[in-house]
Amino acid sequence: MKKYVIFKDDDVGKDIHGLKKWIDIVLNNDAKAAIGLIGKYMKNQELIQFLNLLNEDRIEIFCHGYSHGHLPFLLKKFWKNNRLLPVEFDRSSKSHNLSLRKYRLAESKYLKIRAICFGPPGNVWNESVINPLLKNEFKLMFSWRKAKQDLFTIPLSDNLKQSSLNEFIKDYNKKKDSRIYTLQFHHANLSKKQFDLITEVIDFLKNKEKRIFITPSELLEISKKDKDIFYLISPLN
Ligand SMILES: [Zn+2]
Repeated sequence: MKKYVIFKDDDVGKDIHGLKKWIDIVLNNDAKAAIGLIGKYMKNQELIQFLNLLNEDRIEIFCHGYSHGHLPFLLKKFWKNNRLLPVEFDRSSKSHNLSLRKYRLAESKYLKIRAICFGPPGNVWNESVINPLLKNEFKLMFSWRKAKQDLFTIPLSDNLKQSSLNEFIKDYNKKKDSRIYTLQFHHANLSKKQFDLITEVIDFLKNKEKRIFITPSELLEISKKDKDIFYLISPLN
């Protein structure tokens, strides 16, 4: 039975230098990845030029929100007794729709490819994000839990927080048998040691574990022919 691996990298737009370095490692080691773009950074020309040169079969862009933020400053005044302000996709259906529409608008202006996958900032979302996602033509979402209905979710497995291959393998072994292994990165926060570790992790997953690197779009295609994969990503109802 084939086993797959998806590399998920968040917060694209915050740190172009780190992003380029991260993608270089992925491509030089013949792997693939999904990268989560924050919509508001699409005004950055250097970033857009770089993203439009990527081969989407190797590096697939997904939507990582528009603002990646909390409530606007003015509203915070009315939210006095709450330290934890709702993040971008833990609000109302209307607000979620607005964020996604803004993302789509900027995307159609600046990018050559339309994303089909979504990954909420901080992986935080509530059920009222599902309809806006469908309305804005998203087909998949990265998540720690399944959607109740209508939307496919790519299960998350781990964050790259380890700094040696041995540590990584120890954590990986808990998920060793899962057919989809999704590893999350934040290129802007990686240490020098962790950047070096990426090459070792790719080699381990590919050559030792015989996992196949895929993008979210490829996973969706695979799910049409593979019942187990379909079951893993399909909604609860
Ligand atoms: Zn993020």
